[in-house]
Amino acid sequence: ARKKIIAGNWKMNMTPSEAVKLVETLKPLVKNDEVDVVFCVPAIDIVPVVEAAKGTNIQVGAENMYFEEKGAYTGEISPNMLVDAGVKYVVLGHSERRGYFGETDEDINKKMHKAFEHGLTPIMCCGESLEQREQGVTMDFIRQQVKIGFQGLTADQAKKAVIAYEPIWAIGTGKTATTEQAQEVCGKIRECIAEVYDDATAAEIRIQYGGSVNSKTAADLFAQADIDGGLVGGASLKEEFGQIVNYK
Ligand code: 13P
Repeated sequence: ARKKIIAGNWKMNMTPSEAVKLVETLKPLVKNDEVDVVFCVPAIDIVPVVEAAKGTNIQVGAENMYFEEKGAYTGEISPNMLVDAGVKYVVLGHSERRGYFGETDEDINKKMHKAFEHGLTPIMCCGESLEQREQGVTMDFIRQQVKIGFQGLTADQAKKAVIAYEPIWAIGTGKTATTEQAQEVCGKIRECIAEVYDDATAAEIRIQYGGSVNSKTAADLFAQADIDGGLVGGASLKEEFGQIVNYK
């Protein structure tokens, strides 16, 4: 069976000193060895959060990275910098990065390759806008995001990846997708992985749901056959995250 992965995405919140305080608060609340618990934090918070999380079950992730290792790329952070700092996961292609910062499926694919090259586990985000859902093109769009995002990755790599299905209309809006909507798309994403790779790969890859997950909706969402946990924004900054991690 797939181990659930429950990750917080702090987005652009928490100064380094606030970050340490939040980890101290959440440490006792997010204990649960049955699931993987990941805090994806702003780059400047990584070093203090890794330190504060030592000896706990909290694993640390980044919210983005660049696909080069070093050089004249002012303002960017490389995969090897993340690894050296103690990071295990990296969120790639969040809809906010695609929408506000112009990231393309091709950029995300390059980052996926780099993540694996350095032993980082990518959490690749995909998901449709409200307009696309209303036009009935949700799965066409997501299949494209997944196919390009995974292009050239081996089955062994794909198995270790995490996909986060995050419908844009559900992010930060308080409008969680219904469990049926979330399960439907996550199931189809798994079918897409089976087509691109094989059934064994599809059975192993973990697919999260993200978009207004909270302590009330988590249990139903995470009980769905194809939903292997969540990528949580707003509620990961509060004590509520402890209830989400211990959703059962
Ligand atoms: P919210 O949980 O705040 O809706 O954010 C979801 C998200 O974008 C996580 O990556």
